[in-house]
Amino acid sequence: MRESFSQHIAWTSDHPIGLTVERAEGPYLYLDDGRKIIDLISGIAVSSIGHRHPRVIEAIENQIQRHLHVMVYGEFVQDPQVRFATRLAATLPQELQVIYFTMTGTEANEGALKLAKKFTGRSKLIAFENSYHGDTHGSLSVTGRSVYRQPFEPLLPNVEFLPFNDPDALATIDDQTACVITEPIQGEGGVRVPDREWLKALRKQCDQTGSLLIFDEVQTGFGRTGSLFAFQHFDVIPDILTLAKAMGGGMPLGAFVSRAEIMDVFRRDPPLSHVTTFGGHPVSCAAADAALNVIQDENLVERALQIEEKLRNRLDHPAVAEIRGMGCLLGMELNDAASTRAVVSRCLENGVLLGWTLHSDSLVRIAPPLNIPFPVLEEAADTIVEALDSAANG
Ligand code: PMP
Repeated sequence: MRESFSQHIAWTSDHPIGLTVERAEGPYLYLDDGRKIIDLISGIAVSSIGHRHPRVIEAIENQIQRHLHVMVYGEFVQDPQVRFATRLAATLPQELQVIYFTMTGTEANEGALKLAKKFTGRSKLIAFENSYHGDTHGSLSVTGRSVYRQPFEPLLPNVEFLPFNDPDALATIDDQTACVITEPIQGEGGVRVPDREWLKALRKQCDQTGSLLIFDEVQTGFGRTGSLFAFQHFDVIPDILTLAKAMGGGMPLGAFVSRAEIMDVFRRDPPLSHVTTFGGHPVSCAAADAALNVIQDENLVERALQIEEKLRNRLDHPAVAEIRGMGCLLGMELNDAASTRAVVSRCLENGVLLGWTLHSDSLVRIAPPLNIPFPVLEEAADTIVEALDSAANG
C-alpha cells in the first residue's frame, strides 16, 4: 500500500503524514497497524460532528436508495438540496437567503468573486495579508501569501492586499472596488481574530463605496468558533458568505450565499453565467441536512465554547507563548519551529493528531470535533501537556 501511495498518489509535500486509516468513528481514527488516534484536527475542520455520525450515515443511505447525480446544479428541483437550503437559510439573516451550492471551498470563493464582479460591474479585488482562500486561480489570486502565488503568476489582475485588522488601510477600498474578501477569523494565516471594531469599519467602508463584502467561512462555519457562523460574534453581516468543509458532515459540499438582488445576476446577460455539474450533489446535501440538524439538536455550538475553556485551562503552560482563536478553532503558538515539530510528532506517537497551518511553522492548530466526549478531550490534553513538558525540558 505504502509503495503504491508513493507511486500513484500525487504528493504535495516531501513528508506527508502518511497514516493508513482503516476506519474512522466519532473522535477516533483507527489505523491499519491497530493504533487508535484521537483526531484533534477533524480532517482540517471538516468532521465537526465526528466521523461517521450515525444520522449522517442514515441520511446518505436513504439518499443513495433514491438517486445520485441527476442534473447540473440549479436545473432540477432536487429535494435534498431544497431541504438543506431551507434549513440553512433559517439560520441566516435576511441578507443571506439564496444559496448557490458548489463542491469545495475554493469553488465557493470563485463563485463569490465572479458574482461580485458581475453585480458591481467593477474588477478591483481587495484581500488581506496572510489570508487563505483556496488553490484554484481566482482564489489563489486573493490569497495573501506571495510564496504560494508567485510560482503561478500571472494570476488575476487588479488585486490589492491590505494588512489584516488595520483600520488605516481601509481607505484603499474605493468606488472601483468590486469586493473585499476576508475570513472573519484567519485560519491558515495563524488563527488570527480581528477586532470587532475593525470588521465594523470594514463593513462601513464597503457600504460607503458600494463594494461587496465577502466573508469566507469555509473553515469557521458551522459552529467551529462557538457561534454557528463567525460573523455572528462580530455582529457584521457580509453581502456574500462562503462555506464548505464541515457543511457536508464529511461529504464534499460548498456554497456561496447572498441575497436575491445580487444572486440574480447569474440568471441573465448571459443566462447560465455560472454553472457547475456536481455542485450541491444530492448525497452531500442529504448529509449536510443531517449534519446541521445534529449541530442544532446536540447544542454543539455551545459545546465548542466549553471545549475552548477546557483546552485554554489545560494548555496554560510555560512552553506555550500564546493561544489564539475561538471555540474549537485554536492556535497554540510555541516559541520556535523545532519545538512545534517535536510537540506535534510526540503527540502523534502517543495517539493524538494535531495540525499545522499553511502560513506559520510555530503554530499548532487544534480543531477537535465539537462533540468530542470530555473524557477523550481530557486524555488528549494530557498527551499534549506531556509533549509540552518534554519540549520545555529540551
Ligand atoms: N477558504 C478557507 C478559509 C480555507 O480554510 C480553505 C481550506 N483550508 C479554503 C478556502 C479552500 O477550501 P477547499 O480546500 O475545500 O477548496
